[in-house]
Parts: sequence; structure tokens; C-alpha cells
Amino acid sequence: MVQLPTSQHFKLHELGEGIFAAIHAPNGWAQSNAGIIDIGDRTLIYDTFISPLASRDLLAAAQTLTGRPTHLVINSHYHNDHTWGNLAVPKETDIISTGRTRDLIAARESKLDPSYQPTILKELGETQDRLENARNENERAHAKYFVVYYQAILNTISLLPSRVPNVIFRDEIEFTGTKRRARLIERGGHTASDAILYLPDDQVAFLSDLLFVKAHTYLEDGDPEELLQTMDFIKELGAEVLVGGHGNPGGMIDVDAIIDYIHEMNALVRHAIQDGASREHIASLPVPDKYLTWLFPNFYKENILFLYQRYSTQ
Ligand SMILES: [Zn+2]
Repeated sequence: MVQLPTSQHFKLHELGEGIFAAIHAPNGWAQSNAGIIDIGDRTLIYDTFISPLASRDLLAAAQTLTGRPTHLVINSHYHNDHTWGNLAVPKETDIISTGRTRDLIAARESKLDPSYQPTILKELGETQDRLENARNENERAHAKYFVVYYQAILNTISLLPSRVPNVIFRDEIEFTGTKRRARLIERGGHTASDAILYLPDDQVAFLSDLLFVKAHTYLEDGDPEELLQTMDFIKELGAEVLVGGHGNPGGMIDVDAIIDYIHEMNALVRHAIQDGASREHIASLPVPDKYLTWLFPNFYKENILFLYQRYSTQ
């Protein structure tokens, strides 16, 4: 078996010959997952992490694994934990996204706020306090994750603005390689525009933050109804191995788990509104037992408050 390149920021998983998931390491500066895909005559990278240090390792791993420089880098959506690694992408290498994602990245990078650094320093200090005062392993793991997250941000913001995608696609584009096809498909729900990379010859799909595996999904920047429609589309694709934006590689069982999670939260919040529950009551609801081991427990409260706001005004 071939020895896979290693990085302190991520761990490579070989999903098929020439297909690799780069899964973020707990104390590394990837902070999200990425993919390396050898389509035969060209190498594609899907997402670039939050830090150019992690992204540099990803580009080097792609070179080692495929024997050639990366032809094209894909940005699945605009969130910084998937795109600030664009800083490490060589200028001669194209970065592709949808037009909407390109516009969202460009808008964010053009108005980087000088108060950002002190804000992050404050968040880092508060999170370090939470780490010291954690009452159980789950709280400790969660606080530790965000300490590393804020450290990665602080290290990266002095290098910003990041690169904006320079190749745009709409709806779908297919890369027909000599070894396999790769379909890049626009959908939405996690944000206004999310791009799925589906490998139909291998039954593998890279979904970025449309799928969180054993982790609370993040609804606040998207549209939960559209996300459910996108989940149905992913089920129709029928891929066997699914790589989400956070967590280990999963499968359809993890898509079903997120569908159930959204339906459960929808029902909980709609009933609470019917019963006249206050925002404070919603904010006080504990994470249900079945989700206690999931990563990002703070997203639970944010998600139900987002749904409360959304359904209260409908
Ligand atoms: Zn995201």
C-alpha cells in the first residue's frame, strides 16, 4: 500500500484510486475538509481550508499523489474556512466557483474590517477561558476546536485579502478526464450557492457544508427548505461515499441524519411558536440527548433561534 503524504493540518483518506479526502486534524489549521481528485490527465482540488499553511500542504500532497501540479481549484462556497487557503494557490492556477460564490467572496474580501483582529483576539480569550472551565470532555473538545480556529484566523488575516475565483460556472460543468468524469453541480441551502463535486464513475461525492457528519449543521446563512431539497437531490445522485465539510467521510445514513435533524428542529420550533414560547425559552432548550456527541453543539442554539426568527415572522 502506498504511503500517503502527511500534514499536521489534515489526514488523507484514499476513497478510490486517485480520489482522496483531506479530513481536518483536530489541532491543525485546516478547520474544514477538502478533496484531491486525479481525473487522469488533470488534478482537481476541492476547497482550500481556512489557512494557506494547510492549503500549501494540500497542494504539495496533490503534486505527490498525482505527479503533476494542480490544474484547477474549486471553491464550494464562500465561507472563509473553505476559501482563505486560496492564498496559497499559485497565480497561474485557476480557481473556479459559481458566480454567486465569487461575488460573495469578493464582497467579503473587499471590506475586511480593521476591528476584526481585536474582535478575534477577544473571542480567542473567551474561548480559552471556556476551555479551562470545561465541565466535560464534549465541552473541552468543542472549546479546543474553537481555540485552534481563532488561532488559524489570527495567523491568516494579516495575509488577506485572499484570492477571488477567476473562472465561473453556472448550473453544472463536467470535467471529462482520461480516467474519470467529475461533475461540478450548483445547488444551495447551506449558503446562497453551494457546489457539489460528484464522481459518477466512482460513486463518490464531495459535498462541503451541505453535509456535516456527526456534527450540528449550520442553518443560519442559508435556507433550510432549500437545504432539504438539496438533500433529496443528493439522495437521488446515490453516491456511496460522501465527504462533508466537517467530520469524517460518511454515507447516505449521514444525509438522513441531517434531514431528520432539520425536521425535528422545524417541528420543535413551530410547536413552541404555537404555544406562545418566548425567544428566551427557545434559547434555553438543551441539545437533545441523541446529538450530545455531535461536534459544534453551539450551532444547536443558533439554529433553533434562527428558525424561531424565521417562522415567527412568516
Ligand atoms: Zn460553510
